[in-house]
Amino acid sequence: MSLAVRAVGVRKSFGDHEVLKGLDLEVAYGEVLCILGPSGSGKSTFLRCINHLEIPNAGYVWVDGSIMGYDLRAGVLHELPVRRLRGQQSQLGMVFQHFNLFAHRTVLGNVIEGPMVVRGLRRAEAEKRAMELLDQVGMAGRASSYPSQLSGGQKQRVAIARALAMEPRVMLFDEPTSALDPELVGEVLEVMRNLAKGGTTMIVVTHEIGFAREVADRVLVMIDGEIRETGKPEQVLSNPDDPRVRTFLSRVL
Ligand code: ADP
Ligand code: MG
Repeated sequence: MSLAVRAVGVRKSFGDHEVLKGLDLEVAYGEVLCILGPSGSGKSTFLRCINHLEIPNAGYVWVDGSIMGYDLRAGVLHELPVRRLRGQQSQLGMVFQHFNLFAHRTVLGNVIEGPMVVRGLRRAEAEKRAMELLDQVGMAGRASSYPSQLSGGQKQRVAIARALAMEPRVMLFDEPTSALDPELVGEVLEVMRNLAKGGTTMIVVTHEIGFAREVADRVLVMIDGEIRETGKPEQVLSNPDDPRVRTFLSRVL
């Protein structure tokens, strides 16, 4: 079976601090995986390893069936050709906690940038597709606004449209609603819920337990750089085996 993402034995240290202690993960196409866990447990670092923003000290990450990443067991960095790496990266779309929109570009400008610069689309084509995506996230009416004129929820919906414009095969979300005022969380989760319903493969780091329970096919709990529990939402969230997972969930539920 061809997996969307497969990670084997991923380890990452910063200095003496081992942040990821040998993580294995398989995500199938169409699957929605929610990653939960206390702050500092390595969730962002793991996403960054999957997305190649961070190079693991050991292990492998495959995306869409091909190897992506490095085998450092022998202390040797086996680099992949740049062209291939670029292709790999566009298979993954990433949405960050703090939006990371280009401040000096309009909403439309933000969404067409990647398709034009990286994928080589002509402006007219890129704009047509961008407007469809902005419509999908309920932001078509704000195409000519600048990020500073938008609420956090609106910015995040634009950021989602921008990631989708690269036509990634997998969408990664790193706490997409953690920086939002509570009343703006729902509109972003609604967009994500619709993506999930449409069959998008998603890995979502979140503290939104309700979203995980409702939308995730599978939930994974990370604590101190280890995967402590993984399974169906109802099993993991209601009846976890691991005592540390139980303690963590009792604090956030
Ligand atoms: P989470 O997303 O679960 O809150 P992170 O992956 O951000 O956790 O961080 C896990 C640990 O790794 C934390 O102790 C953090 O301070 C440390 N860390 C993350 N990135 C770096 C870095 N670039 N340099 C040093 N330490 C880092
Ligand atoms: Mg994080």
